[in-house]
Amino acid sequence: MSYVSEVYQALEKKHPHEAEFLEAAKRILESLSPIVEANEDLYRKNALLERFVEPERIVSFRVPWTDDQGKNHVNIGYRVQFNSAIGPYKGGLRFHPTVNQAILKFLGMEQILKNSLTGLPIGGGKGGADFDPKGKSEAEVMRFCQSFMTELYKYIGANEDVPAGDIGVGGREVAFMYGQYKRITNLYEGVLTGKGRSFGGSLARPEATGYGLIYIVDEMLKAAGKELKGQVLAVSGSGNVAQYAIQKAESLGAKVVTCSDSSGYVYDPEGIKLDVLFDIKQVKRGRISEYAERVPGASFHAGERPWAVKCDVALPCATQNELNGEEAKTLIENGCFCVAEGANMPSDEHAVDIFLEKKILYMPGKAANAGGVAVSALEMSQNSQRLSWSFEEVDEKLKGIMQNIYKNVSGAAKKYGYEGNFVVGANVAGFEKVAEAMLSQGM
Ligand code: GLU
Repeated sequence: MSYVSEVYQALEKKHPHEAEFLEAAKRILESLSPIVEANEDLYRKNALLERFVEPERIVSFRVPWTDDQGKNHVNIGYRVQFNSAIGPYKGGLRFHPTVNQAILKFLGMEQILKNSLTGLPIGGGKGGADFDPKGKSEAEVMRFCQSFMTELYKYIGANEDVPAGDIGVGGREVAFMYGQYKRITNLYEGVLTGKGRSFGGSLARPEATGYGLIYIVDEMLKAAGKELKGQVLAVSGSGNVAQYAIQKAESLGAKVVTCSDSSGYVYDPEGIKLDVLFDIKQVKRGRISEYAERVPGASFHAGERPWAVKCDVALPCATQNELNGEEAKTLIENGCFCVAEGANMPSDEHAVDIFLEKKILYMPGKAANAGGVAVSALEMSQNSQRLSWSFEEVDEKLKGIMQNIYKNVSGAAKKYGYEGNFVVGANVAGFEKVAEAMLSQGM
């Protein structure tokens, strides 16, 4: 039996109930086969894969909080400190009812490789809570964030573990948590990223994931002899990643015709109007259906996803498993030749197989959406320096990082005989550096 299969089977036995994590680990391990086979003796001797699949530490804790009516609730909080071989644990916090340990382990494993791909010294972690911020008042969100941090602060630190936002955790929540950390510890340090501008946040952090996604799409298209200008894009999601991907894509001459939220998608054949989108999502924190009420010619499709719309490029920017095999087929039949993931693992296993089989340009999330965490690492650098760089400086660095990621991912795929397969390329390129660090540091 191959080393990869042995490790996977042992993992299945150890964690039989962690379906989401097992699925991700299987996909990652399989795609690492080329590099594992090339180094099998060394890896086996050092139990490298056995160590790679097990988090260094997981903390799980209760988060009690009181709602505006005085009723008490208890949620579960987690922090998965997965791998610190190349730097302090780094990764977002997700507040969503689906959050559990298995999902955070899957996201944490993705994060290790993503963070390595940025070329910056950050290890992999992920955390969150099964709290649903939807419909909660600002005061309730604040109390929840404070309670969450009252426990989490014991396990994090600017040189230890630096959380940030993810689904359900944006600038407002990061700020509430940061305030609580500072109140408890008396430390004014860069312990969270995605902070507000006035207290150590980096310029271009809110834009970073979306901009980075478009920068890498630009590289993919250029390498294929095409350009972004004039392409029609279908985007899902309408959160931070989608908003800034749309902004950057439109500024480079592409037309984005869709965006969505969990209730359905909006189609605007003239191209999504940013001022309306920003007003609905950033000012009012409203639902995307409002867009179709405000923009003549736009339509709202309740309960549907945007993958049946005719487009050249598809950018899933909402959540995991939001694009299945059937939808992948439809996209390609309708002329889509490029998919890049703004969300983490939005394309399910079948969809990915179809993209690879049909040989369209497909960039997995860990490479395509790495711009967010990359600028988080730049925020850490600025905090350590007690300096703040200009928007242009951060944006320029982000662009360079995304171009480098493209080069490394396509280069690694080619090196191991999988030219054009960016799934193998991204996993191998990310893993190479982590493996080297783990081997150098010993058992
Ligand atoms: N949640 C984002 C991600 O999935 C950002 C993490 C960070 O900035 O630490 O990469």
